[in-house]
Amino acid sequence: MQAPAHYNKAIVTAAIGAVALSTVTLSYLSYRYTIGRANLVEATLVQNSNTLIEQTIKRIEQKILDNDSTLYNMVDVNESSEWPAVTEAIKKADLNIDQVWFLQPNGRLLSPSWTSDTRHLFKRSFVDKVRELNLAHPDETNHLHREKSDNYFFATYVIKEDRNGEPILICFQMSFERSIAFVSKYLKELEKTHYVSIVDFENNGVYSAPVPRSNKYFCERRFPSTFYKWLLQAVPRNYTELERDERNQRRLFFFLIVLSMFLTFLSLAVIYVGTRRERQLVQLKEDFIANVSHELKTPLSLIRMFSEILVSGRVKDERTRSEYFGIIHNESDRMSRLISNLLDFASLERGTRRKNFEVTNVSRLVARELETYRYRIESEGFTLMTDLRDALPETLADPTALGLAFFNLLDNSLKYPGERKEIRVRVEQSNGFIDLAVSDRGLGIPMSEQAEIFEKFYRGSSPAVQKTRGSGIGLAITKQVAEMHGGEVRVESEPGQGSTFTLRIPIRQRPLEG
Ligand code: ADP
Repeated sequence: MQAPAHYNKAIVTAAIGAVALSTVTLSYLSYRYTIGRANLVEATLVQNSNTLIEQTIKRIEQKILDNDSTLYNMVDVNESSEWPAVTEAIKKADLNIDQVWFLQPNGRLLSPSWTSDTRHLFKRSFVDKVRELNLAHPDETNHLHREKSDNYFFATYVIKEDRNGEPILICFQMSFERSIAFVSKYLKELEKTHYVSIVDFENNGVYSAPVPRSNKYFCERRFPSTFYKWLLQAVPRNYTELERDERNQRRLFFFLIVLSMFLTFLSLAVIYVGTRRERQLVQLKEDFIANVSHELKTPLSLIRMFSEILVSGRVKDERTRSEYFGIIHNESDRMSRLISNLLDFASLERGTRRKNFEVTNVSRLVARELETYRYRIESEGFTLMTDLRDALPETLADPTALGLAFFNLLDNSLKYPGERKEIRVRVEQSNGFIDLAVSDRGLGIPMSEQAEIFEKFYRGSSPAVQKTRGSGIGLAITKQVAEMHGGEVRVESEPGQGSTFTLRIPIRQRPLEG
């Protein structure tokens, strides 16, 4: 029989695959998006810092250029006698200048005269390098800046021609300390939000220790035209918090992605297992219907055949007639047992079967049942051995249900025989329980099937079982009867050696609740 469309394995597998694939894709895209967003935030922060650094540098340079034009205007190269006085005035003015030097373009000093303390640095840094200076354009202000390895030196210089057309080189020198003091005033604003440092090209800290370049928010800009040997560096003061926030956000997002993937896959697994079980159940039910129909058909055709022979009156011999009547009787008996088994199964399944608990002696009950089946047992060539202790304590039980369970165990021992046709029935007391055990030397049950045989509609997979009549509900009924009594049913079996089924119920004086 064709399985319904919604159980179609291929469709379910494809749907689960599609959901799994889209979950993985979505998770991957979300992850990429988060990383992208974090990178964008990072880039924006760096961009902001860069803008602030550029603005600070611009303000510093602008101030120096403004000072430069003031200085230019203060000096008159025609009045050399005025130079010392002008120099003093410049030093006193708020122009950050430590010394003013007047030279010829070839480096010969005109004023002031050399003094021992300033000579060395000025000679090495400026006079000796005069050939490298940009002196081509008179009246154009330039800057000379040297880094630590050359002894820090900073000066503004300009060529001015006197009235005779003689070029005079004027140098306005700013000491290192004054340079730093000047620059630091302009860094105050930036320092409110950033760790700031000024370094030279060899990364020597000029103003504060260098900021670590490995920091991902690190920004750096060079002074373009004045302190051009220096770099201004900065990182946001709250970079540890920023990093922590970002790390936490990433972790949280990653956790959520993993969690949602886990939940999706878990749900898919549940759906897959559920549909597989449903499919199996549908298959089992179909087999069950086929089995039951077959089981009913066989005795029915026998009854029909023998009754037709008898009705036709062709059999005159009294012995043959009674043999045929016997067959009809046995087969109708088999049918009615099957039907009552089915009805009992249905009512046990629905939970509508009325429980008639009464004080019962299980040994005696089993003995009575055995009497009913003794003829069949012996006629099928089995040897029956019993061990029924009459002195067992009585217990509250439903005798009809127990009889049904016992019948199913016995029926199986007869249905699945081996070479030695032996059945042993034992009833005994053990630690507050009554054990009813049915053993045979029949086919036995593989270990892999021992749990499944108690499920409804399940039938063994071996060919010998498959060709035997059966509906797969006998052991399910036995299990339900055991549970209804607060007990259980167990199997011990080895293929080819036989099986022992033990129905164990507790000894009770009062019925179970519910
Ligand atoms: P059915 O006998 O109608 O198939 P049951 O529920 O009574 O259904 O049994 C389920 C399965 O358990 C059987 O199909 C068979 O494979 C296995 N089984 C039960 N009892 C025995 C037994 N005594 N010997 C061997 N196999 C057994």
